[in-house]
Amino acid sequence: MKQYECIVPGCSWQTHSEEEAEIVRRAAEHMRSAHDGMTVRESTVDQIKAHIREADTASS
Ligand SMILES: [Zn+2]
Repeated sequence: MKQYECIVPGCSWQTHSEEEAEIVRRAAEHMRSAHDGMTVRESTVDQIKAHIREADTASS
């Protein structure tokens, strides 16, 4: 499971998915709908990917 928090400062939106591609898709959709005027370019996708982390699955 991977997790991602929005790269926009002050935004606390986050998502979880098994697939990196799914996270990128959701993040791009979020950027367009929640952050008016933000364009999702290739460099934005790179930023999103760099921000994806492995979710902490160690729960007891
Ligand atoms: Zn956001």
